[in-house]
Amino acid sequence: MSLSVLSPGEIKLPDGRAVDFANLDYAATAPCLSRVADAVSELLPWYASVHRGAGALSARCTREYEQARESVADFLNCRPGDQVVFTRNTTDALNLLARALPDGTTVVTFDSDHHANLLPWPRRTRIPALSTPAESVAVLDAALAGIHGDVLVSVTGASNVTGEVWPVSALAAVAHRHGARIAVDAAQLAPHLPVDLVELDVDYLALSGHKLYAPFGAGVLAGRADWLDAAEPYLAGGGATLHVGDGVVEWAAGPARHEAGTPNLIGAVALATACRALLETDRAALLVEEQGLIAQLRDGLAPFGRELRLFPRDAFRVGIVSFTVDGHDPQALADTLGRDHGIGVRAGRFCAHPLTDRLTGGRPAIRASIGVGTRPEHVDRLVTALADLS
Ligand code: PMP
Repeated sequence: MSLSVLSPGEIKLPDGRAVDFANLDYAATAPCLSRVADAVSELLPWYASVHRGAGALSARCTREYEQARESVADFLNCRPGDQVVFTRNTTDALNLLARALPDGTTVVTFDSDHHANLLPWPRRTRIPALSTPAESVAVLDAALAGIHGDVLVSVTGASNVTGEVWPVSALAAVAHRHGARIAVDAAQLAPHLPVDLVELDVDYLALSGHKLYAPFGAGVLAGRADWLDAAEPYLAGGGATLHVGDGVVEWAAGPARHEAGTPNLIGAVALATACRALLETDRAALLVEEQGLIAQLRDGLAPFGRELRLFPRDAFRVGIVSFTVDGHDPQALADTLGRDHGIGVRAGRFCAHPLTDRLTGGRPAIRASIGVGTRPEHVDRLVTALADLS
């Protein structure tokens, strides 16, 4: 099955040309899969309360919400007993995990991570990302030898700055050898590569629907139930309780414990539809296509752009490239590309200030990122425009 995304069609440029907008900012937020939009439209006439009402509408909504959880569990190949908790996004999922840690747990992250994985942890140690994946694994190994008590390693699956893919299963093996657990921030990994909890052998995984072609405001935290069931509810309120009496509250176990309030049914169904669509797609073929586009982009940028990377140039990466162009302000360049060429890229430090500053010497950069629906012409338009401007 081939995938398609919604797009606004042609837009008018100041010089009178009409072009198909080249959305090259998938790493921030990806467009909506057509199939997701269809599923949402189909559900909307039935839209009603989840877990709270009687009658055909509520019954269908409740069923779809719980089926959505199962589809996400299938997509991630969750283990029996793992929980899938719907959250707002990756940031929310990691904050939920931070609140569910046993007291005194030390969280180890790499300093190259997105702020969503750097900031939520109450007690943390940051270790340096080194210039090869293997060295970074060795740094983690050495760091864990010196930390005692409960430890969670929380790593980025693929960098939102460089697109580089981290050696998650090797990091998981090291974490487990030291008796630690491991969480993966899969915000940028899941849209590009299959993510399988069993194969990666990770304990928790967080992702965002809006980066996975499923807008409507849902994300997920998936993984081991014990810490989640032992934790204080992330949100206190209706739906998370079994019984509330005079001075006593009996909290639910399972995902409901952390999902108080009316759930985001449309977001969950959108996310689950994207998961099913990706599972039914030939992802190997998608990856080949994406790798071709990313090579086209990197080769095209090479004469005038300085690419940001931590690892050697041939290290495996998903469809994300950040770069600077000497003598050009990234924001001004991004604005010109948007206005005059119908190209959407992002300029800045990408909510990963330590990494971006390290790779640029303290300057912002431009990021181009691609996915389903990106065409060679989009990449070509970016490269040609930059070559003319530089
Ligand atoms: N982690 C990574 C690697 C990201 O790229 C992002 C989004 N840029 C996040 C976490 C946070 O995602 P969200 O804003 O959807 O919470």
